[in-house]
Amino acid sequence: MSWAPVRPRERFLVFGAPLIGEAEIDEVVASLRSGWLGTGPKVARFESDFAAYTGAPYTAAVGSCTAALHLSLLALELEAGAEVITSALTFCATVNAIIHAGATPVLADVDPTTMNLDPAAVAAAITPRTRAVLPIHFAGRPCDMDALGDVCRRHGLALVEDCAHAIETTYHGRHAGTFGDFGCFSFYVTKNVVTGEGGMVVARDEARVERIKRLALHGMSADAWKRFSDEGYRHYLVREAGFKYNMMDLQAALGLHQLARVEESRRRREVVWRRYQGGLAGLPLELPAEPEKDTRHAYHLYTVLVDEERAGLARDEVLTAMTRENIGVGVHYLAIPEHPYYQEAYGWRPEQWPQATAVGRRTISLPLSAKLTDADVDDVVTAVRKVTTRRASPA
Ligand SMILES: *Cc1c(COP(=O)(O)O)cnc(C)c1O
Repeated sequence: MSWAPVRPRERFLVFGAPLIGEAEIDEVVASLRSGWLGTGPKVARFESDFAAYTGAPYTAAVGSCTAALHLSLLALELEAGAEVITSALTFCATVNAIIHAGATPVLADVDPTTMNLDPAAVAAAITPRTRAVLPIHFAGRPCDMDALGDVCRRHGLALVEDCAHAIETTYHGRHAGTFGDFGCFSFYVTKNVVTGEGGMVVARDEARVERIKRLALHGMSADAWKRFSDEGYRHYLVREAGFKYNMMDLQAALGLHQLARVEESRRRREVVWRRYQGGLAGLPLELPAEPEKDTRHAYHLYTVLVDEERAGLARDEVLTAMTRENIGVGVHYLAIPEHPYYQEAYGWRPEQWPQATAVGRRTISLPLSAKLTDADVDDVVTAVRKVTTRRASPA
């Protein structure tokens, strides 16, 4: 292919821009006009809608997925020194939640094709102190839940799923988040359902989900938010020292309508994902593996690995060049052991998790949002083509 100068697109394409509809805007305005902004009936409705969507028996809306992870791990009542195994290729919040729950994070490496936790690596990381496994469904692709479930059952371990990418994900017909004790979802601005900030715990045990709701609101007796309602003043009683992790009705106002459109948005992202698979074939990149049989991919991220040798430039140079082309890009993720805090606190070195480290050093995420037009997607493809073939082919 001959290289021709192509002008960058005029406006910067924001990575992970949310698609907000009129229904969300109207619902937020209605909340504002009603004067009830905080936790209330819209949060309760969002919880029951989310239970219906995922098929989970119990749900608790909270302020973020980070809060959902923290409270889920607390609800496991881990003893000091307990170890929780998670992926070396995840967002820092996954690991920080383990630390704040008073447990010790233990990293396991990923499968280089799926970028999901490798069940054999999990089994190898188990010690007498292991109490739980915390997989993340990377980019919306489900982990091998048969194998992970087996490992957990054989060793009597709890299972908490980080479903931040996986709202629409299913594995062998079952919804992500419903395989173990808890599933934790995110409604952060870049995620598949958006409430600004927001999260959800799905659970199979009613008592534990009640505990999570209590911990999310200062440790006060259940439904303490009703104390200002027209049912008459009710005293709340503090049962334990909790947190301020509740979701507001203002946030749920967005979530109710985002969730109603979740399948429509996923269909659009699937089209974009396919357009990338076709448009980027043949470039010095490794494209994502096709979804596995009998699973449902949530198409949360579209991540490619840069073949630095063939492209003639480093991953970070691709990131810079793409930004110069007015295309917003992301990195999911620099492997956890690349960060100084974890190196200092746990003595971790990136070489101990070679697959996660290699992905983290070569990966780049392209925009994948229901908001993208076909022209936006073509701009991304054109920019990637231009950037990655500039040096490889003669001008
Ligand atoms: C976004 C994300 C989180 C944190 O979600 P918040 O709602 O922002 O707290 C946790 N884990 C993963 C894998 C994520 O992508």
